[in-house]
Amino acid sequence: MSENTTEVGNYFVSNYPPFSQWKPEFVPDALEELNQAPRAGDPLGLYLHIPFCRKRCKFCYFKVYTDKNASEIERYLSALTKENELYSRTRAFQGRRLRFAYFGGGTPSYISERQLDQLVEGLNRHVSWEDAEEVTFECEPGTLKKSKLETLKAIGVTRLSLGIEHFDDAILEANGRAHLSAEVYRAYEWAREVDFPQINIDLIAGMMGESEERWRDTVRKAIELEPDSITIYQMELPYNTVISQDMIKLGLTSPIADWPTKRRWVDYAFEQFQERGYRVASAYTLATTRKPCRFIYTDALWHGGDMIGLGVSSFSHFGGVHFQNAHDVEDYIGLIENDRLPLFRALRLTAKQRLIREMILQLKTGRLDLEYFRGKFGIDVWEEFKPEYERLDAEELLHRHNGSIEVTREGLLRVDGFLSEFFEPELRSVRYV
Ligand code: SF4
Repeated sequence: MSENTTEVGNYFVSNYPPFSQWKPEFVPDALEELNQAPRAGDPLGLYLHIPFCRKRCKFCYFKVYTDKNASEIERYLSALTKENELYSRTRAFQGRRLRFAYFGGGTPSYISERQLDQLVEGLNRHVSWEDAEEVTFECEPGTLKKSKLETLKAIGVTRLSLGIEHFDDAILEANGRAHLSAEVYRAYEWAREVDFPQINIDLIAGMMGESEERWRDTVRKAIELEPDSITIYQMELPYNTVISQDMIKLGLTSPIADWPTKRRWVDYAFEQFQERGYRVASAYTLATTRKPCRFIYTDALWHGGDMIGLGVSSFSHFGGVHFQNAHDVEDYIGLIENDRLPLFRALRLTAKQRLIREMILQLKTGRLDLEYFRGKFGIDVWEEFKPEYERLDAEELLHRHNGSIEVTREGLLRVDGFLSEFFEPELRSVRYV
């Protein structure tokens, strides 16, 4: 086994400080923040977590439910609406404008058209969506019908994100995906007919059974669809995936390609899309240059914006405090039905932690604006983290230009592997989740 093997463990860095540092005893900090005077000019985002799926993918590390019936789903959706109402009553929410909403999961497109209509109508009663500039909705292709896509357009979805992952049916099946490629093509055509302002597709490099030839074929098929943006992840194996558990229990070697191979595959895909006029929007995303493509959700998140996560185990960031909801669906619903915000753990960030969080998240875009950090935190981040930056510079992973730090292509391919070097020393070796 080499250090390049894809072993069980977390690789992706999505937040800071590590989730293991968020604690139940800090929940009062979150409640205190929600009781502050409203910052009326600051935009607000909502994340809505829909934890249901048709089938569990073998690489999935989320807690998802594949056995809930319509009435259980409706009880959950009522809890989401009620949670939104509880937030709308807090002092800090008064007069706040909703700038974006993001439906993630799980599989948001698993819920029916009637349930969707009711959910959005219920949410709108307490926090108006009228001015939202971006509403993203994640879909599993096999759950879509043309009428459901029309419903999504009617409720205000501006950005449809299709979890295609791969075009090869044998790979989709081997990895436990619920859909096959025929459903992808059908769903994509309907989505274009319904005419969403932005359609994103997701791919994963390094699924079980992946080969050079199959990956190249998938990239070619993805290009043929001409999506507005494409997001490509490198397969990782957090502890609780089916693949990881099989490896641990049965003592199997990793069935996933090693990291250099996955990086080479992502590099190939980026190169192919760039040759066709796409621009690099982040370490994972390319966007068409044929029309304006914005990413308000990630921009807000990576610049320290406020976002409330509704739903079981959802994450929020509000006024410099992280918090997360209860992670068992019955506990979550029970708390809400008793008129209580379902908060499970929290952490108030220090000024230094806010700086590190924004810095590592913005490094994922490939460019740091030094003036932005000087203005917001009064710090030259290169000087503040000189040993780390100089080392990454020497390895050709990034370079300093006059007013910015630019991450190289190789740096973007490895970005999640080096971000932890910017963590505070005492948090470098703690569990991440
Ligand atoms: S569709 Fe997504 S959330 Fe659902 S099981 Fe598969 S990876 Fe997990």
